[in-house]
Amino acid sequence: MGFESFRKSRMNFNETVLKAQEKKGTGYGDGYDYWKLEVDKEKGTGSAVIRFLPPKDSELPYAKVYSHFFKGDDGRWCVIDRCPTTYGEQCSCCSANSTLWNSGQEDKARNRKRRTNYVFNIFVVKDPANPENEGKVFLYKTGPAIFNMITESMTPQFDGEEPKKPFDLFEGHNFNLRVRADASRGGLASYDKSFFDDRATDVAKSDAELEKIYNAMTNLDEYLKVGKLSNADIDKKVAAAYCNSAGVSVQTAFAKSEVDEMMKSEPRDSYKAMDKLPWDEEDSPAMPSESMNADEEDTLAYFKKLASE
Ligand SMILES: [Zn+2]
Repeated sequence: MGFESFRKSRMNFNETVLKAQEKKGTGYGDGYDYWKLEVDKEKGTGSAVIRFLPPKDSELPYAKVYSHFFKGDDGRWCVIDRCPTTYGEQCSCCSANSTLWNSGQEDKARNRKRRTNYVFNIFVVKDPANPENEGKVFLYKTGPAIFNMITESMTPQFDGEEPKKPFDLFEGHNFNLRVRADASRGGLASYDKSFFDDRATDVAKSDAELEKIYNAMTNLDEYLKVGKLSNADIDKKVAAAYCNSAGVSVQTAFAKSEVDEMMKSEPRDSYKAMDKLPWDEEDSPAMPSESMNADEEDTLAYFKKLASE
């Protein structure tokens, strides 16, 4: 930028900073309003009552999103919010992981694994840590643990259990979300004490309230379209993460030119047919921002990363 343009644009800085802060408030920096379960740092527990909401103009009541979130060889975070396999497309990061895995660097591939998340519209019934959220609609991003509880509630395995309707506005079952630090797993977040109400209830008493809830919901098909990166952008991020700036990798066995070659030689559609990759850990308890140990550090690093771009 030349000095004259710099002088002219100086008044825009306030606006830019305020906008950036507005976005930061959502937690993931993508402009959506997410709800997060607050964990009591001393007790290591958190609880709330939420209701999963039905789809709004989309086929499913959730969006399934794959992402990558790891520290690159240069020590900076590499964040790919939408791994292209989210859209059934080939992903450079997954491809590079495949090469790592096949060359015996399993730990590294696992660290850079594709993470699975589910995004729901929820209605907050009770939020003891943040009562101002009660009666409002948010997006809620969570991992396979909660998703599995939802599917299990609809297909009970034991005698005497009735299938539940987690997404029904009128005769649905509230979800009692409970998280605790699980000492047996190094303090990772565990949701195993969560449960659905036995009794079905309506989410609101009047049509006006129901309509308000409906209007506040997000169309999850539209949600998925936001933040989709081009393959070229992902290639750039991945190349930066797998090799340091000098083009020589310190921790991987690959130099930058080799990574470039790998990406060229990897057939673009090789992952379409593969839903589960060997380094995927579908049963991982939560994404890193939900694990209590890593929460603050990761969020901070994430925003630092965004700010440095
Ligand atoms: Zn990927």
